[in-house]
Amino acid sequence: MTDKLFQTTVAGSLPKPAWLAEPEKLWAPWRLEGEALDAAKRDAALVWLKEQEAAGIDVVSNGEQFRVHFVHGFLEHVDGIDWQTKTKMGIRDNRYVVDVPTVTGPVSRPRSVHGEEVRFTRAHTDRKLKFTLPGPMTICDTIADAHYGSRPDMAMAFAEILNDEARELAGLGVDLIQFDEPAFNVFMDDVKDWGIDALHRAIEGLACKTAVHICYGYGIEANLQWKKTLGSEWRQYEEIFPAINDSQIDQVSLECAGSHVPMSLIGLLKDKEIMVGVIDVATLDVETPEAVAGTIREAMTYVDAERIFPCTNCGMAPLSKALATLKLEALGAGADLMRRDLGGG
Ligand code: ZN
Repeated sequence: MTDKLFQTTVAGSLPKPAWLAEPEKLWAPWRLEGEALDAAKRDAALVWLKEQEAAGIDVVSNGEQFRVHFVHGFLEHVDGIDWQTKTKMGIRDNRYVVDVPTVTGPVSRPRSVHGEEVRFTRAHTDRKLKFTLPGPMTICDTIADAHYGSRPDMAMAFAEILNDEARELAGLGVDLIQFDEPAFNVFMDDVKDWGIDALHRAIEGLACKTAVHICYGYGIEANLQWKKTLGSEWRQYEEIFPAINDSQIDQVSLECAGSHVPMSLIGLLKDKEIMVGVIDVATLDVETPEAVAGTIREAMTYVDAERIFPCTNCGMAPLSKALATLKLEALGAGADLMRRDLGGG
């Protein structure tokens, strides 16, 4: 084992700077357009690469500065979707009711979606690079279907085009591609029936590492209310972890800090690398490095140190930039503290 222990990373999104979109607002629209917008997105990505490097984050991302929404950012470039035909849908098992676009024909990816931003991001950091894409099941729970007639069929169609995109991004030097599947925590039977099959189609033949992120959502009101209904122990992970452990996915990104998920559940993922959420994205408090180290230490009760990658619970897009930066620093410092404690330098 020559690899550095406790390599840190972020779940995905980071706040947009004020010049790009209204701060502290999830899914805020762009403040610019055309070439000025493209330039502002690149500037924002540069800021976050620098902030992550300064905080000691080992596997960096562009903070999703090039997209407004974690699912629509991909879907906007997909053919077969009618954005005018909005369907009212209760998504994540009716946690939110929203107007979603509608799939009206076979979906296809006429051209690269994220290639350009990845080329730019890759050119501006020497660190390992992570890139996030929406998972097939979560896509199917964020869009209405007027064509396929079955969710598993539609998921497989999306998985195919996600795979084309992921292969291109891996070829451009992305080290880890993560599929965001918050829907995995809601439709546990579907995960076993077809969710993992769809993920397997999405990662087919990928030359880089692969991950799935399964969380309890951003720290927004609808999620906070939902979490109150889940009882004192959140055991959703328990139902799906055996199937995920049997899957071909390399890493699993989980919500652990400040949640009611019993840490012992990660022991079910005995063959996976685990991005342990050590930063709570639903609180305005900044974790101390000691608290971060404490969560890592707790995870070590169930998982070997070599398989632990300290991470944020979820994206930090809705937080202020200053707060997100402090949380990144706590993440880096906490992992460092653990490395020193173990004498790993
Ligand atoms: Zn998340």
